[in-house]
Amino acid sequence: MNARELPAGWTSLLRHCDFNIACRELRNLFEIGNKEAAAHGEVIYYRAELVKGWRRFAEDPTFNTAVAFLEGAPDYAPGLFWGYFIECCPGGRWAFYDSLLKGRVAEWRLVPAEQKYWHPINGGFNSSNAKFMCSECGSQYPLTRCSDCGGENSQLGKTAVGLPGVFCEECGMGAFSWRCPACSAAHKTIFAFYYDIRSVQVRKKRFWD
Ligand SMILES: [Zn+2]
Ligand SMILES: [Zn+2]
Repeated sequence: MNARELPAGWTSLLRHCDFNIACRELRNLFEIGNKEAAAHGEVIYYRAELVKGWRRFAEDPTFNTAVAFLEGAPDYAPGLFWGYFIECCPGGRWAFYDSLLKGRVAEWRLVPAEQKYWHPINGGFNSSNAKFMCSECGSQYPLTRCSDCGGENSQLGKTAVGLPGVFCEECGMGAFSWRCPACSAAHKTIFAFYYDIRSVQVRKKRFWD
């Protein structure tokens, strides 16, 4: 491969790229380059066409802006930039890490204590998106299936006397309190039940619900 040339069929390869990841990684590359240069009291100058192409791509990372960016940077595209795009295609390094991260990173929240949240309009909680966490010892336990009927999903609600808790969507079994299996501390469900805001949405009951 000629150092100034991109691989044959590069535009069809590029169609499968995740341009948002490519953009993020290239932005890091430029920032690191600029920081290193500044540390040596230098400034990196790029051709005007490269800068223009980069800005357009960074504003709107799509196939068309990526092609224009690569074509406008013939001295950097094959040796440097192309590698970033190919790594962001399916099976590439960043595409791989990104799917890994998306699968693993959860953002755990308590449901607000306000009564209007503790209503069956909020459901679909299960072991993949909800857990109990002990404020005494820090132990965490994924929400389990209903011990009564084996139902997978739970919903928010209130007991007969109005205490907020988590209940089986199938049979209604549930509790307003939770005892930590590790340290035996008892907690009110509202202070121990966490859900992943990236997987489930929780909202207040409106008067017409
Ligand atoms: Zn049940
Ligand atoms: Zn505990």
